[in-house]
Amino acid sequence: SGNIFDLFRSRFPADRSRPFAVLEDGRAVTYGDLEALTGRYAHLLSDLGLKKGDRVAVQVEKSVENIVLYLATVRAGGVFLPLNPAYTKAEVEYFLTDAEPHVFVAKPETADGLREVADKAKVAHLLTLGTKGDGTLPELAAAKDPAFDTVSADADDLAAILYTSGTTGRSKGAMMSHRNLGSNALTLHSYWGFRPDDVLLHALPIFHTHGLFVATNCVLLNGSSMIFLPKFDADQVMALLPRATVMMGVPTFYTRLLAHPGLTREATAHMRLFISGSAPLLADTHKEFAARTGQAILERYGMTETGMLTSNPLDGERIPGTVGFPLPEVELRVVDPETGKTLDTDEIGIIEVKGPNVFSGYWRMPEKTKQEIKPDGFFITGDVGKVDGRGYVHIVGRAKDLIISGGFNVYPKEVETVIDAIDGVVESAVVGVPHPDFGEAVTAVVLRKPGATLDEVAVVAVCKQQLANFKVPKRVFFVDELPRNTMGKVQKNLLRDEHKGIFA
Ligand code: ATP
Ligand code: MG
Repeated sequence: SGNIFDLFRSRFPADRSRPFAVLEDGRAVTYGDLEALTGRYAHLLSDLGLKKGDRVAVQVEKSVENIVLYLATVRAGGVFLPLNPAYTKAEVEYFLTDAEPHVFVAKPETADGLREVADKAKVAHLLTLGTKGDGTLPELAAAKDPAFDTVSADADDLAAILYTSGTTGRSKGAMMSHRNLGSNALTLHSYWGFRPDDVLLHALPIFHTHGLFVATNCVLLNGSSMIFLPKFDADQVMALLPRATVMMGVPTFYTRLLAHPGLTREATAHMRLFISGSAPLLADTHKEFAARTGQAILERYGMTETGMLTSNPLDGERIPGTVGFPLPEVELRVVDPETGKTLDTDEIGIIEVKGPNVFSGYWRMPEKTKQEIKPDGFFITGDVGKVDGRGYVHIVGRAKDLIISGGFNVYPKEVETVIDAIDGVVESAVVGVPHPDFGEAVTAVVLRKPGATLDEVAVVAVCKQQLANFKVPKRVFFVDELPRNTMGKVQKNLLRDEHKGIFA
């Protein structure tokens, strides 16, 4: 059958006593446990009346039981729908009424407060799951039979609906099929050269494609183990690196590790691979990390809607500031948004992609789906970038962040790169702010190194030397921190909002 659970199970180690997840307290969940637990949970779901294609929505803190629930849902023919535990009641209401899940699993402490919302969304069953294996979900499942016949699925059946991060607007539900998830997992597993004895350090959230699919599915296909942490804590991660071989992280993980005095060549000697994604990794971070540890972070690029699209090579040069080559199976082109023509090497345009990993559309948004997926099957990512002469893909920003000032296009990344290279600058974010004459005015928000005395005049002076006048920031603001969401993405919409009145 096309059910990805069958694919995963075919890769489970023959010795089922081998660990799948090792938890903070040292407890191990073995592959045998995983098989039995997903069987019990799948029985519970089907006893609750879950039918093929029914959604199981989940808003809980990270736990291995939550991974069990993901796999059990798929095993039972359902569609897994994880939600960020930080969402408020009003946000959960939007997602539940949009997705109409048959089952909703909430944190024990928020379930009562969400009952009204669940009822409104016609949720048939509201269950709970805590972080200590507690809650009505594991309690009810404990009485069920561990042997469960996996529901057969067509490769095109839905396995999950994942909501996008909402960086550029309201989150959209991306419909992911068994084929989408399975093909991408197989590609990554081989591209990143997973070995039987690999141990993955897992400190990412699991409501997002990065921690849920990229990391976990590679481990499952490898039949190996992961060290499963509730969140990223630099001290804890440093202490565990000697027991791991692979870590996947968002760029903030790496900047936090760099701030840790323990980060040395010796401390990372056991690691075979550090991978970064979900937001741009500063070239400086890559270089500093290499200088401190001798390890070149492998940066890759992907989206909720597509899984992973490009990756720097395992063997071969990992170039800082690039996201590497299109993965096997992924067709990638750079297109002029005005003419729709495919552009040449080094020309900047919108990135479009096609492949078995690309989703079939947005949940209950047929119009939006039609706008974003072209008749020839290419999906318009909304990311702006180019492919260089060696085939490496560069992301220069998002189409929605493009600034049009006095009729000229300004790519924020180009200005940010100039500012970031100034002595005393950690990083910057450049946005367009409404301006009576220019339409939008280039505005820079800069994070200085501690003790740096750099001021607005100095930043503008450097930009003037290196950039055409229309790209030079009209104003520069200094902050202690750039606003980021849980995945480490800079929230430019918040910066635009905050500064929208300054030229009025
Ligand atoms: P929304 O679509 O709701 O606005 P989002 O695009 O941030 O939110 P995700 O699907 O989580 O939601 O993120 C995908 C985006 O993350 C990509 O389109 C790209 O802009 C960015 N991204 C991911 N990896 C990288 C990377 N290595 N370098 C630069 N950008 C990246
Ligand atoms: Mg997006």
